[in-house]
Amino acid sequence: MKKTPGKDPAFRLTPQRAGILRFLDGNKSHPSAEDIYARLRRKFPGMSFATVYNTLQSLLALGGLTEVKIDGARARFDPDTKPHSHLMCVSCGAIADLPAPRGLRPAGAPSGFKVLRCNVEFYGVCRACAPAAKKEKTSCQKKKRK
Ligand code: ZN
Ligand code: MN
Repeated sequence: MKKTPGKDPAFRLTPQRAGILRFLDGNKSHPSAEDIYARLRRKFPGMSFATVYNTLQSLLALGGLTEVKIDGARARFDPDTKPHSHLMCVSCGAIADLPAPRGLRPAGAPSGFKVLRCNVEFYGVCRACAPAAKKEKTSCQKKKRK
């Protein structure tokens, strides 16, 4: 985790920062800094992108926010700092939570290697982005009950 240069050691709570905190609180969408800026600039017309970026960096340094690195295009942020995994739709970029894998021992791990933690990332296509897949019958759906 990169530390922010001690610009705001006390994290002064400006109205803009409070707005960013409110937006992030309980937010499950894993927004990027650009997403947050786009959502809040109407409410705070004077707010700069740098304010959003710097606030996120401060929150990261304070441990109140996690950077999710599943999206290669841009950093995504998660106010849920408890260990968990993610899956991402490669078409629309939607990220969803998965429970953290537990006691997973990777096949091929050298003997004596003690697994401390593991970070699993799944990439795929969500339902909304694959309308054809919705209509396609899976083996489960063929067994229709009447
Ligand atoms: Zn999608
Ligand atoms: Mn998450």
